[in-house]
Amino acid sequence: MEIYKGAATFAGIAIGKILFYHRSEYQIRQYLVSNVKKELSEFNQARLLVIRQLKELYEKNCPVQEMEAKIFLKQAKLLETGSFQRAVESLIVSEKVNAAYAVMTTKDELAATFRNLEEPAIRERIANIKEISDRLISVLGGISPKIDLGEEPVILVAETLSPTEIMEMDKDKLLAVVTLQGSVVSHASIMAKTMDIPALVDIEPDDEWEGSQAIVDGYTGTLYVNPDAELLKEYEIRRQADLKEREELMKLKDQRDMTADGKEIGLYANIGNLDDLNSVLFYGAAGIGLLRSEFQYLGRENYPRENELFRAYKKVAETMGDRLSVIRTVDLGADKQADYLDIPEEANPIMGNRGIRLCLDRKRMFKAQLRAIYRASAYGNLGIMYPMITSEEELDEIESIIEEVKTGLREKEIPFKEILTGIMIETPAAVMISRELARRVDFLSLGTNDLTQYTLAMDRQNPLLRGKYNDHHPAVLRMIRMVIDAGHEEGCKVCICGELAADTGLTETFLRMGVDSLSVVPACILPVRKALRETDLSR
Ligand code: PEP
Ligand code: MG
Repeated sequence: MEIYKGAATFAGIAIGKILFYHRSEYQIRQYLVSNVKKELSEFNQARLLVIRQLKELYEKNCPVQEMEAKIFLKQAKLLETGSFQRAVESLIVSEKVNAAYAVMTTKDELAATFRNLEEPAIRERIANIKEISDRLISVLGGISPKIDLGEEPVILVAETLSPTEIMEMDKDKLLAVVTLQGSVVSHASIMAKTMDIPALVDIEPDDEWEGSQAIVDGYTGTLYVNPDAELLKEYEIRRQADLKEREELMKLKDQRDMTADGKEIGLYANIGNLDDLNSVLFYGAAGIGLLRSEFQYLGRENYPRENELFRAYKKVAETMGDRLSVIRTVDLGADKQADYLDIPEEANPIMGNRGIRLCLDRKRMFKAQLRAIYRASAYGNLGIMYPMITSEEELDEIESIIEEVKTGLREKEIPFKEILTGIMIETPAAVMISRELARRVDFLSLGTNDLTQYTLAMDRQNPLLRGKYNDHHPAVLRMIRMVIDAGHEEGCKVCICGELAADTGLTETFLRMGVDSLSVVPACILPVRKALRETDLSR
C-alpha cells in the first residue's frame, strides 16, 4: 500500500480504480494543398460544426453550471468573429498548407507571443484558443479531446485538468479527482465541489497507478494506492456513513435558515472568486457575506483597472439578483503581496501596512475600487465592508473618499444606489470601540481569523503554533459576545464571517449570543444550516 498526502479541496470518500489521464500530445502532419479553395471550405465547415458543438455544450451544462458553461459561449464567439479565423485562413492561403496544420501553427504562435503575460483575461483567451484549436483539429484530423472514462466509475488522476475537460466528462463515471495542480479556488476544484465528489490537489501523479485500486479521503487529503483489505473494509463502512449523511444534508438545500424555535438567521457564503457564485446559489445561501476582493489584484503585473473591477462586481450583482452581496474592499499586504504593489519590506508584515491602512495610503487604488463597487451597485443588491479597521479616524477618511466618489458619479450621471455599509471587526481595537463603530454603519462582521491572531498575538500562518492558535479561547469568544452586544445596542446587525462561523460545535453558542448572520464557504452551508435548524433557543 502507498500513501500520498495532498490538500483536500472538497470532502468525501471515494473507493475505486484509478484512471490516469494524459492530455494527448498530438503531431499534425503538414502537407501542401493543391486546392486552396477546398481547404478553406473544409476549415469553414469544421469551424461551423465546432460552433454548433460548443453551443450545444452550453445548453446542456447551463442549467447546472451556468458560469462554467459560459466558457463554451466565449469559445464559440472566438470562432465566429475573432481574428483567429482570419489568421488560420491567411496561413492556408499564403503557405498553401492543410487546415489542421494551419490551426495548430496559429494556436502555437499565439501561445508563444503571449507566453509571458500574466493578465488573467489574456491567459483565459489563450486557454480558450487552445481548446477551440483542439476541437477543430479533432474535426479536421479525427482526434478526440474528450476524456473517455470507460465503463466503470473511476478515480481520475491527472497532472492538471481544464474546466472544459471536467465539464465534458460523464459525471456518473467520476468518483473523485486527484491532480497535482489546482487549489481550493481553481476551476477543477470548484466543479468537483459542484459535482459533490472529493477532490485532492498537490499530489504528484504516477502513470503506474493506472488501473490500481485506491481510496481518496477528502477529509484528510490522503490518497491510498493499493490499500490493504483491512483499510478497504474500514473505508467502505466510512463511505456508506458519509453518503448517508450527505444525502440527508442535500435535503436541506432549499430549506430556510431558521432555528427549531423559529428564529430566522442569515446564512451567507464567503467567496474568493467569481467562479464560486455557482455554489452560493446551489446551496441556497442568503447571499454573499464576504467577497474577498483580492482575487483581482494578486498574480498579475499591475493594478486592475476600474472597468475590470466594475465588470466583475456587476456580474456578482446580476448573478445574485436580490440577494445581498457584500464586497470587502481589498485586503492587501501581509501575506497577500504582488510585485507591482511595491510594499517596502516590513519586519513584521502581519502587524504592517495591510488592509484599510494600505488603501488609505494608496488612494488612487482605493478610489478605483470604490467607484467600481458603486457603479456596479446599480445592477443588484451590493454591500461594502472594510477590513482591518482600528479607529474612527479611518472611517472619517473612508467616508470623505466615498463622498468624492459619489459626487464624481453624480456629475457624470452614472447611476448608483445607496448600499449597506459594514466594518470588519478583526482587531482587538475594533472590538473595544465597536459601539462607536456600530453607530456609523449598518452592520459589523467579525473576522475571527485575524481577531484570534491579534488577540492571542499568534501568527495564524505559523505552523509552529498550530496546536496553540486556539480560536475557541475564552478571550476570543468573549470579544465576539461584546461585539454582538455593542452592535445591537446601536441597532446594528452583527455577522461572523471568519472560519469560526462554520464550526458547528459553536453554532448554538453564537445563536445564543444573538448573532444575526453567519457567513461560511459554500461547501459548509448545509452542515451549518443543519446545526442551526437543530438549535432550540427556547430551551
Ligand atoms: C478574518 O480575518 O476572519 C477574515 C474573514 O478575513 P481574512 O481571512 O480574509 O483575513
Ligand atoms: Mg481578516
